[in-house]
Amino acid sequence: MNCPMEDRRPAILVAYAAGELDRETASALERHLADCAACRPVAAGQAAVWKALDAWEAPSVSPDFDRRLYRRIDEGARLSWWERLTRPFRSMPLRQALPLTAVAGLLLMASLLLHRTGPTAPVASQHEVVGANQVESTLDDLDLLRQLSTADSAESGHPDAM
Ligand SMILES: [Zn+2]
Repeated sequence: MNCPMEDRRPAILVAYAAGELDRETASALERHLADCAACRPVAAGQAAVWKALDAWEAPSVSPDFDRRLYRRIDEGARLSWWERLTRPFRSMPLRQALPLTAVAGLLLMASLLLHRTGPTAPVASQHEVVGANQVESTLDDLDLLRQLSTADSAESGHPDAM
């Protein structure tokens, strides 16, 4: 038998683990597995998966499952739009609900801030229009103040000594 892994036909190993091979092919594969280090781990892995699936038992459904399911569907149909909207969050633990509330609060705050800065924007642009002349006169004023303060400190000698 050619090596399934070298031939890139690992499906035969899956079929072997599932017990889907005929006896002749299965025994040929078993002889190959005894010698091949490439196929053995794959076959072992598949066997482990099938063993786990065999051992798994589906949880049994409670006898009144259908009745409770239909009752919940009926309740859902009678809820108002608001209850339907908030229902997924009601069963959520507080630890998960808090970050959502925080995000909602931040969004609200951001929208309020954006709304607030709206009307003040034109005031800022008025300042920009006046700006050119005002900057020049302000610079003149600052220059005058600097001259005054240097003259003042020169008169009082060393201000650090005081
Ligand atoms: Zn092989």
